[in-house]
Amino acid sequence: MDSNSKPRIVIVGGVAGGASAATRARRVNANAEITILEKGPAVSFANCGLPYHVGGEIADRAKLLVATPELFWNRFRIAVKTHHEVLAIDRSTQTVRVACRNPSDGSTTELVIPYDRLILATGAEPVRPPFAREMPKNAFHLWTLSDMDHLMAYIATHPVQRALVIGAGFVGVEVVEQFHRRGLHVDLVERNPQILTRLDPIFAKIVSQHMESKGVRVLTAESVASLELHDGQAVAAVLESGKRLETDLVVIGAGVRPRTALASAAGITIGPMGGVTVNDCMQTSDPAIYAVGDAVEYTHAVTGKKGLNPLAGPANRSGRIAGEHAARGSSQTMGGVLGTSIVRVFEVTAASTGLNEQQLTRSATPFRTAIVQAASHASYFPGAESMQLKLLYTPDNGRILGAQAVGGEGVDKRIDVIATAMAFRGTIYDLAKLDLAYAPPYGSAKDPVHMVAFTAINDLSETPKLLTPDSDLSGLQVVDVRTERERHQLPLEGAIAIEVDALAERWQELDPAKPTVVVCHSGKRAHIGACWLASKGFRDVANLTGGMSIRAVSRSL
Ligand code: FAD
Repeated sequence: MDSNSKPRIVIVGGVAGGASAATRARRVNANAEITILEKGPAVSFANCGLPYHVGGEIADRAKLLVATPELFWNRFRIAVKTHHEVLAIDRSTQTVRVACRNPSDGSTTELVIPYDRLILATGAEPVRPPFAREMPKNAFHLWTLSDMDHLMAYIATHPVQRALVIGAGFVGVEVVEQFHRRGLHVDLVERNPQILTRLDPIFAKIVSQHMESKGVRVLTAESVASLELHDGQAVAAVLESGKRLETDLVVIGAGVRPRTALASAAGITIGPMGGVTVNDCMQTSDPAIYAVGDAVEYTHAVTGKKGLNPLAGPANRSGRIAGEHAARGSSQTMGGVLGTSIVRVFEVTAASTGLNEQQLTRSATPFRTAIVQAASHASYFPGAESMQLKLLYTPDNGRILGAQAVGGEGVDKRIDVIATAMAFRGTIYDLAKLDLAYAPPYGSAKDPVHMVAFTAINDLSETPKLLTPDSDLSGLQVVDVRTERERHQLPLEGAIAIEVDALAERWQELDPAKPTVVVCHSGKRAHIGACWLASKGFRDVANLTGGMSIRAVSRSL
């Protein structure tokens, strides 16, 4: 097949992956017959924007409708059929059976549509926990435009003061923020011991502490056992621990699972994680059928293993590849996915890429960590905001395994830079060499990315090595180089206090033969102190990475 052939391309699902597949197919083949079948009322809507309309930050609902069926037809000659649900695939005849619903009277007719190439972009569906088998009238998911409309209609017509959000993934925490914006009292319940499980516990804790500072009640390691109903409405949630949370409204964000029923009924291979198995051009086990987006298992860029990654970036990119391949028989390849993600939670941004500590531990991958506290731009230029940046890397050759950042402005840029380095299988030494743009309003001549790489390089060359924030310091000579005020605010028992500027005078008070760790607020002054001691003959000196600010969070877990 080439760009002169005339394949009939049928796409099931018309949002992120489906719309990308359709438009790419058209761009590479003007002769293809392209049809999108979408069971919902709209295609190409901005599901990522839904929470922001709930809170009023995106005031105009129409802005969520990125492209209409008319635009698809007028500009691309792509036929969009909304209210068309594909019920089954017949691979032997290369047809799909479709239920076509008339929205004005609810009647349904069935039709059979032939395809030469079929692209499944059916997405994922929200998990419905056992306590919500029967959804109360005031309980909602937030996954589709209709979900959003129902939720907002309920809020507009009922005296809602308290809201309960169940599940602290991306959608859950975004909804919390938007409800708070609307003046609601919000409780967030998460059954894991932390929110936002892509982050390591300490970084997740920084975010949940920020939420609590806004008045949100965050309950982790708590599961909802049941919802108490009155007139079909949830009035309270009873937790497994016995706690009872009164509420006027419930939003369930308990995760999603790939929507694979169509593929699986057609005998297409489903992988061990529950997503459709695809090759690098997004072909399924049937080469005439492609699958993209949340429905598939992607190859992880670090581990090489297949896994789920329900995010918009991979969905759009995989759609583009499938569309290209379906339309002309060849395409770019998908490559690995890192799971790079970001979320805003009030004034804090949290982002990550690659693997976290839990994933590395589970796969028995040796790793080291470096954490730095850095400013978004030159600290002498007004408006600099602070961030914590963490790097995970291999102990032998410093290959970057993952990164996380939590803080104010500039978190996005640092994680994207590191994700880019990781895409090229970069190491901490590569990061340290990056030539990044700098002027005082934008960054620092030594960017936070450089700083965390330098710190990691020091760790591997033991100049000095790093101890993790939760390290057991007993048996070590602990040298606290903070100021008296800092020590008073966050005491460190058993430490020998010598401020960094006094170390050149007083280092002889210390025992050079003892294993020593130097500690300060963020790890920066401790590095200076540790270097000083090492050059004075202390044989075994370490720096507590992230300093007391991070250790204090780790102690609160
Ligand atoms: P979808 O975009 O979900 O589209 C699947 C479509 O298939 C649906 O419209 C569905 O109706 C249709 N369909 C399913 N079965 C059939 C059938 N049998 N017949 C016809 N049609 C069918 N990701 C990010 O990276 N960043 C974010 O900030 C972010 N925020 C989000 C916020 C919310 C509230 C939501 C809901 C998601 C968010 N996501 C975010 C996730 C992102 O939207 C998804 O990863 C992405 O949309 C997946 O694309 P997809 O094409 O696989 O599936």
